[in-house]
Amino acid sequence: MRETPTSLSVEAVLAHLEQMTVPLSDSEPVALVQALDRVLAEDVISPLNVPPHDNSAMDGYAFNGQSLPQAQTLQVVGTALAGQAWTGSVLPGQCVKIMTGAIMPPGLDTVVAQEMTRVQGDQLHIPAGTLQRGDNCRLCGEDIQAGNIALKSGTRLGPAACGLLASLGLPEVRVTRRLKVAYFSTGDEILSLGQAPREGAVYDSNRFTVHGMLTRLGCSVLDMGVVRDDPALLEAAFRQAAAQADVIITSGGVSVGEADFTKAMMKHLGDVAFWRIDMRPGRPMAVGRIHQGDRSAVLFGLPGNPVAVMVTFMAFVRPALERMMGMQRPALPLLKARSQEVLRKKPGRTEYQRGIVTRDTQGQLQVITTGLQGSGVLSSMVQANGLIVLHHDQGTAQIGDWVDVMMFDGHL
Ligand code: AMP
Ligand code: MG
Repeated sequence: MRETPTSLSVEAVLAHLEQMTVPLSDSEPVALVQALDRVLAEDVISPLNVPPHDNSAMDGYAFNGQSLPQAQTLQVVGTALAGQAWTGSVLPGQCVKIMTGAIMPPGLDTVVAQEMTRVQGDQLHIPAGTLQRGDNCRLCGEDIQAGNIALKSGTRLGPAACGLLASLGLPEVRVTRRLKVAYFSTGDEILSLGQAPREGAVYDSNRFTVHGMLTRLGCSVLDMGVVRDDPALLEAAFRQAAAQADVIITSGGVSVGEADFTKAMMKHLGDVAFWRIDMRPGRPMAVGRIHQGDRSAVLFGLPGNPVAVMVTFMAFVRPALERMMGMQRPALPLLKARSQEVLRKKPGRTEYQRGIVTRDTQGQLQVITTGLQGSGVLSSMVQANGLIVLHHDQGTAQIGDWVDVMMFDGHL
């Protein structure tokens, strides 16, 4: 039976996937050192003020700044060190030498940096007009107040967020459990590493690009190898994957009219739609659920061509997986760059060309393609630092036209 695949725009595919995928509900506690790149499963309420006291942002002298900006001469009556509370008293006309991070002595609200002053004996001279009341003093709770939400559920814990959690004294956080993703490549012509080359066969690159992209996303991965176009092997692979994983990613065997068993098996084992997407590269894609016993896994049946795999992963799979991981973050904005060449394009599909974005002599972004744009040319993905996105209704871009680019971030 021939498929009559539905033809969908990129926007329609994204809208469908948004309906299809829901955040994982399971969470687990992890030690903060293990929390990098995980996703917070609950709001973190700060148990304390950060910083915990008013303190000095400079090495200098703390004083009461009420008569600023006039020049003043003050008597230095002692030194406040970081980590120790100042216990003495400070009278009007007096000041305290203070180190960065030291608690502000009571009644003092301003710090003058050492290099702005002149000291003679115990007399400190502050010239007029150099600072304002409150300068160089960090206020208790100015970063985070006790009882407030310090980080929201859905935050991906990058180095800054991990540091912030540590500043709250939290040794452990609750994160969504890792998304389990099983993947395999299909096709009789696909060789695994270690197999001898033979005519008509190609080595499996998709498993490595998929593995890399999943690992960078923080998924737990199950590599199921290459599966031949054999119904029994395909069925076993799909069943094993659906029994263990939240998501199954395959590559190959979903092209329109392709005479293999992959599509038939996807249909047999689940609810799967075969989409013809108005895009290049990456036209065919199968999306749905594969059932096994009382559980099911989300399926992404990606095209076989190596660039198409990476582009469909970036465009569709990654946002869907991030949603399942509970991540809540706005997508990175597309940038605009001037095209340095003519980009031929027909309206009616979205095209992703591999681009190298640089700055021109005026400091504006410019972009040139990596050359051959075939969907099998994986070196184009290696050379590129972003994708030029030519939108659905757009036609050919001329030299000097502004085009959208999606920069690769650390995940690619
Ligand atoms: P398909 O979508 O199965 O028709 O495959 C499209 C093209 O991608 C064919 O030239 C395949 O040989 C190639 N291809 C499919 N799977 C892989 C893979 N895992 N690694 C490298 N190339 C692949
Ligand atoms: Mg094939």
